[in-house]
Amino acid sequence: MTLSLSLTDVSPLQFAVTRNPNPRSDADREEILANPGFGQYFTDHMVQIHWSERGGWHRAAVEPYGKIALDPAAAALHYGQEIFEGLKAYRHADGSVWTFRPDKNAERFQRSARRLALPELPTGLFIESLKQLVAIDGAWVPAADETCLYLRPFMFAAEAFLGVRAAKKVYYFVIASPAGAYFKGGVKPVKIWLSTEYGRAGFGGTGAAKTGGNYAASLLPQQEAYAEGCDQVLFLDSVENTYLEELGGMNIVLVTKDGTLITPDSPSILEGVTRDSLLELAEARGHTVERRQISIDEWRDRAASGDIVEAFACGTAAVVTPIAQLKSRGFSIGDPDAPAGALTMSLRKELTDIQYGRVEDRFGWLTRLDA
Ligand SMILES: *Cc1c(COP(=O)(O)O)cnc(C)c1O
Repeated sequence: MTLSLSLTDVSPLQFAVTRNPNPRSDADREEILANPGFGQYFTDHMVQIHWSERGGWHRAAVEPYGKIALDPAAAALHYGQEIFEGLKAYRHADGSVWTFRPDKNAERFQRSARRLALPELPTGLFIESLKQLVAIDGAWVPAADETCLYLRPFMFAAEAFLGVRAAKKVYYFVIASPAGAYFKGGVKPVKIWLSTEYGRAGFGGTGAAKTGGNYAASLLPQQEAYAEGCDQVLFLDSVENTYLEELGGMNIVLVTKDGTLITPDSPSILEGVTRDSLLELAEARGHTVERRQISIDEWRDRAASGDIVEAFACGTAAVVTPIAQLKSRGFSIGDPDAPAGALTMSLRKELTDIQYGRVEDRFGWLTRLDA
């Protein structure tokens, strides 16, 4: 028993590969890649690995992309026991395909799994699952500027059981979707709405896990943001309703006029790989980075006095989104027509230059996926 368990842990799983008998034609794929949008089209294959309490990780497979047969009693559908990740495959000028800091996503996937009482997928298997999908669907990685193949690993409770406890049967999948440039026609600063009635994550809750429930909680306030003419919603901490947390799916950073970057430190925000990388780039340039509580009053007062001069949101999908204005009931910060901040844009350029292989990868952040 002990022996078989330790063998499962150390021996790499073999992926059984079944080719899609009806892949998209080259012409159809090229047409999609010319204008992919975001999250609308999916590649010809997907990865699937099963986990059970007794068998551990098993049945690793690359299969034709298609519908999942799921028992209607599967626990994820009822109790939201689900987690996901998001990362990108970038095509470099020489045709090779790379991804960015996948070990960070793998480790975060393990932390999310722990919080949601799901099994932890080993880092090696996580990265191998991405390589397996890119090996078969590599032609789906677009080559145009600022485009990518978005990779979406996810895991959910598949056990058919309506009692409330951690599932003993879990499915892991990876699907992939080509993505166009996030900002068509150049980066455009956004307006964000400060949600004062709704939080996204409570004390001791799941805010630091990448789980669907956090997104479900953000949808209604997001609709409120749209109704107020804003693009995104910013949440405050749910204990004191005072300190900045993050947007629905992006972290936030403020910049002072002397070039200090300030970002919230909180147990209930999702620690972004993009934010971590941007702050590391800024520190390497000699900027001071403060990871601490920031009250909405501090932002308002220091913006009014000209001391806080830039703000941006960041995450894998849009990389860096400059914030022109924050709106709330009774006050606003910034100007709806404010241009993107200079430091904001220069950090964005440095990060995307690394990701697309246009400058040297001096931090060793890239992992090749197609070799
Ligand atoms: C994924 C995510 C982010 C950004 O994380 P990255 O690793 O930079 O993509 C920020 N906030 C939330 C809530 C997220 O789900």
